[in-house]
Amino acid sequence: MIVNTAEFGYDPVSMPTPTKPQTARPPSSLIPKLRRDLLAWYATHRRDLPWRRTRDPYRIWISEVMLQQTQVATVIPFYHRFLERFPNLAALARADLQTVLKQWEGLGYYRRAHHLHRAAMEMMDAGGGRVPDRHRAFRALPGVGDYIANAVMSIAFDRPRAVVDGNVKRVLARLGGIGDPVNQSAAHRVFQQAADRLLDHSCPGTFNQAVMELGALVCTPRRPYCPECPWRTSCHACRNDLTDWLPRRIRRAPVPKHAMAAGVVCHRGRVLVVQRPSEGLLAGLWEFPGGRRQQRESGPTACRRLLRETTALDVTIERRLIRVDHAYTHFKIKLDLFLGRKAGGRVRLDGPQAFRWVRPQELNALPFTGVCKKTFPQLTLDRLCRG
Ligand code: SF4
Repeated sequence: MIVNTAEFGYDPVSMPTPTKPQTARPPSSLIPKLRRDLLAWYATHRRDLPWRRTRDPYRIWISEVMLQQTQVATVIPFYHRFLERFPNLAALARADLQTVLKQWEGLGYYRRAHHLHRAAMEMMDAGGGRVPDRHRAFRALPGVGDYIANAVMSIAFDRPRAVVDGNVKRVLARLGGIGDPVNQSAAHRVFQQAADRLLDHSCPGTFNQAVMELGALVCTPRRPYCPECPWRTSCHACRNDLTDWLPRRIRRAPVPKHAMAAGVVCHRGRVLVVQRPSEGLLAGLWEFPGGRRQQRESGPTACRRLLRETTALDVTIERRLIRVDHAYTHFKIKLDLFLGRKAGGRVRLDGPQAFRWVRPQELNALPFTGVCKKTFPQLTLDRLCRG
């Protein structure tokens, strides 16, 4: 039986009908064995990841923030570079935000970098210059949600706090036959309760990492490797051939796609770049000026209009340079990038917080949006600015 703890608009795909009622939740008597089996498996199979070689709460915090929304293999080089640049809380708090964003460039979800920086400053100002070892104090910092708080508290300080992320939800849904949708925020409580019940209080940090590792290596989204799983004899989904049906998800509306236009505006060997506002999406990052196209508006017309509206410049559009697609969490964009020459006017900003006329070789000193970075290898800015 799939245990639904609330009524939701489920994915219309119908579930297989159970032949007889059964209790999916692992009985309490089985929990010590589940813990033992998982920890034994983890001791043998765990990956040797850099953040697993330390108990330094600062380093663990940085790794957990990076690992939210980003794959392990992507995070590793960023983790090393970031810690080389900011080896401790004081170094991060002392840095200016632009330097932090530059180190974060390419990792995406830049709000994480803003929050890290603000939280580090708060810890230096009011927290005694260290990562708090109490859940309440740490949870109150910018960008620290339940997952980060529980991960850092358990791994660095052995606090009995169970973590619940996507991997953990998938494993728990299958192990216990939890039918609540994993992408429904109202169901989070159900997964948190299941994780709390399972947590081994004698080694909470190791146990949390073991569940996440099981989800990453064995209980994978598609075709989990059940024969290699330490929980295979107890797992509801495995025993009832439900691994294709669990976890369940609510089907979301397709993300909208927006057409954008931006200009590579060259003038006297330099190119114009603007800095996004200090709040909102991609706050504080740099980009080529532009924006969203209107319906039925041609690319060059949109680009000229957007440059006039955001920078007050009169620009002659020469040609389209490239088109790139880029995906954000809630929407996608198709960006047309045009080559423009300044025809008149002086920069007066409406929207961006700052602008610079930079030489092409100076671009790398600034933190840019991901979509802009994507265009760099295809642009021969040196030549364009000389032309
Ligand atoms: S037995 Fe299979 S479905 Fe169950 S937890 Fe293990 S890998 Fe996942």
